Amino acid sequence: ESVVDLLNRLCATVEDYPRPGITFKDLTPVFADGKGLRVMVDELTAPFAGKFDLVAGVEARGFLLAAAAAYATGTGVITVRKKGKLPRPTLSEDYALEYGHATIEVHEDDVPPEARILLLDDVLATGGTLSAATRLMERSGAHVVGIGVVLELAGLGGRDALEGHGVHSLQRIE
Ligand code: IMP
Repeated sequence: ESVVDLLNRLCATVEDYPRPGITFKDLTPVFADGKGLRVMVDELTAPFAGKFDLVAGVEARGFLLAAAAAYATGTGVITVRKKGKLPRPTLSEDYALEYGHATIEVHEDDVPPEARILLLDDVLATGGTLSAATRLMERSGAHVVGIGVVLELAGLGGRDALEGHGVHSLQRIE
């Protein structure tokens, strides 16, 4: 079974969520499947093998991918969190979502300068979230050497928003 066939079999599609007119791709059944989780993590890390020191994940589903990817590759995890969750001084970035606005943060001393970061999230839509996360890493003095997502909603321009960074998606959906 190919990665795309696996994702097509397990990923749920929810119409009109979280708002009318939006089609939401729900990857929770893929996370809940042993083979699905393994394939997502292995396929997201493979192109960047040996090229990163840390994996950064965006709250919350990005944490699942980042933790598994870091464990599998013997690296550590950086948690990029929603505003107000981190206890010590943070860097923060505001961004527009496909639906709404948000702020994400990272501890200002969690990311070692010059670290090579693999940045992971479940879905790339407009790219607002991953652009903001990239800015957080770069403001920390680190280098984003790769961005990995399971699904890329290709019509929303996320790849263009992340221009200059290698985006690796396991499936593009038009
Ligand atoms: P963006 O910032 O517009 O690229 O949206 C990406 C962020 O919103 C990611 O953190 C995703 O988890 C979430 N997101 C956007 N659309 C979807 C979707 O269809 N399914 C699951 N998550 C989504």
